[in-house]
Amino acid sequence: MYSADINKIIPFSSVDGPGNRTAIFLQGCNFNCKYCHNPETRNLCINCMDCVPVCPAAALSDKDGKVIFAAEKCIACDNCIKVCKHGATPRIVRMTSKETFEKICENVPFIRGVTFSGGECTLYPDFMREVFVLCKQIGLGTMIDSNGSIDFKNFSDLLEVCDGVMLDIKAYDYNEHIKVTDVGNDIVLKNAKYLAGMGKLFEVRTVVVPELFDFRKTVDNVSKELAPFLKISNIRYKIISYRKNGVRKEYRDYKSPTNEEMNEAREIAIKNGFSDIVLI
Ligand code: SF4
Ligand code: SF4
Repeated sequence: MYSADINKIIPFSSVDGPGNRTAIFLQGCNFNCKYCHNPETRNLCINCMDCVPVCPAAALSDKDGKVIFAAEKCIACDNCIKVCKHGATPRIVRMTSKETFEKICENVPFIRGVTFSGGECTLYPDFMREVFVLCKQIGLGTMIDSNGSIDFKNFSDLLEVCDGVMLDIKAYDYNEHIKVTDVGNDIVLKNAKYLAGMGKLFEVRTVVVPELFDFRKTVDNVSKELAPFLKISNIRYKIISYRKNGVRKEYRDYKSPTNEEMNEAREIAIKNGFSDIVLI
């Protein structure tokens, strides 16, 4: 049985896929997005112990060089996250697929499905597959929210039990994608077409940061490339305005796009054939 490092579980979410869903955020990411709103989800804890003394609730302790988190004592003050220099958090719970499924079951019958997010949840493909298999047995929907960095072609067993993927396309141009994330986007773009061809691309998402990359070029190219697949199934294009909440202070000076710029992005997607466009 597989397990994963779980950052948090939101029992009921209406913004992580269709309907009311349990959203599960896994720890660790292989991108380094400048505008990441949850930078503490990027890395695994290296047990440096810097956070232990700043916890006002004695929820953290050092046991044989490993930081131990007592969830029942935590008052969610975020002191530990603020002091961590490693893009990590000590508030992680390692759970098996069975334990995770049992947690999900606490929310049945009030949820329509489950969404894995992160961090980057596809770093735990076997764990997700095991949870999804159990979810399918009780009729729950299964979605993945991903940065598209693993080649989905190699994970057909995961896709078999996954209803759809919400895929970030942070920038269309390869070098701009590196500027935004530190990583190239060849696999991301390949995944977009592969998933769309299977009818499993539920949504693509682009965060608009006008100073960081040419958002017009990204929305134009992404919508042009994916438009032919709209015949297979609907694809939502979620165009997200950059907001500085939670962003690391060295990247907080970017300006949010204007309403005109957001509307311009929508018009570009419409011109290329998209009709299900959400601006947030
Ligand atoms: S969460 Fe961060 S500060 Fe705390 S022990 Fe781990 S690496 Fe160090
Ligand atoms: S968020 Fe919880 S674990 Fe972290 S410092 Fe505050 S009380 Fe301690």
